[in-house]
Amino acid sequence: MIPKPISLIQSPTPVHRLNRLSEDLGIDLWIKRDDLTGFAMGGNKGRKLEYLMAEAIAQQAEVVVTCGASQSNFVRQLGAACSVLDMRCVAAVMDMPYSASHGKPPATRSGGGNLLLDQILGVDLRHFPDDDWEVLYGLADQLADEFEAEGKRVYRIPVGGSSPLGAYAFVKAAQEVADQAGPFDIVVCPSSSGSTHSGLAYAHHKSATRVIGISCDPEPEIIEDIVRLCQGLDNLLHTDKGIIEKDLDFRLDWAGSAYGISSPSGEEAMHNLARREGILLDPVYTAKAFAGLLDLAKAGEIGGRVLFWHTGGLPAIFAN
Ligand SMILES: *Cc1c(COP(=O)(O)O)cnc(C)c1O
Repeated sequence: MIPKPISLIQSPTPVHRLNRLSEDLGIDLWIKRDDLTGFAMGGNKGRKLEYLMAEAIAQQAEVVVTCGASQSNFVRQLGAACSVLDMRCVAAVMDMPYSASHGKPPATRSGGGNLLLDQILGVDLRHFPDDDWEVLYGLADQLADEFEAEGKRVYRIPVGGSSPLGAYAFVKAAQEVADQAGPFDIVVCPSSSGSTHSGLAYAHHKSATRVIGISCDPEPEIIEDIVRLCQGLDNLLHTDKGIIEKDLDFRLDWAGSAYGISSPSGEEAMHNLARREGILLDPVYTAKAFAGLLDLAKAGEIGGRVLFWHTGGLPAIFAN
């Protein structure tokens, strides 16, 4: 069931043309400003939380438990939502969670950025040593179990808010853009836990708009999560789009060496947008996705009316 969303962000977020970069690239380039949600420094997670927190309220949750990297933008925005709703926000975090099958990235100590904001927002952060993502999910479940054993009503949210309900927020967001600026030929978004990409891809399935998700993590298995979220949307909406892997345009080429580590092409893209348009990107997600957009445009692989979905993440600029 889809609950009636609560209001957390200022929407619709702006959408506008990038005149100078359009000229540089010879395409009609637009940007959707989910960095400007007006909620705890912005970002794509605010949309998901309008639905997820509505469900938490319906379940009369007292504690919300999630997990993520210590610089998680989701944890920060969830912390803000919990403040508004008088719920306790508990997050299991690791500085650099990784996929053991792909190998351990170099250890990075995290500080500042989102961690500072989490503190201000009153998030109950539980810090664990770096390990596999599956271990992190298990630790979050353990924390949730402990609160339940104390008799508390707990609402559990998967990493990044990526449940089918979270993805549904981006099905609706696709409609928001259509109402604001009409149809696009191409939509490019960063993709990580998958609900942004899956929601947009689901909304545009079999339409004239092609959605390209640029992965911020070099793990190819992530596409399975996106397919699963699309199936979850079918269940949630009682429809049968039956989206499979080959229906999705998911690119690993700009993910860099590991999740959470900036890439040289991402840094270049960040400087490019900042110096041509005065708009800032974050190093973990949007810089990598914008690097993908620039390369695809230069290669002539995308053209016409192109929309870049700015998902926020700016506090990470001030991390470490
Ligand atoms: C979480 C996040 C993403 C990725 O969105 P998913 O829905 O998790 O794939 C992209 N950009 C920023 C800034 C984020 O915080």
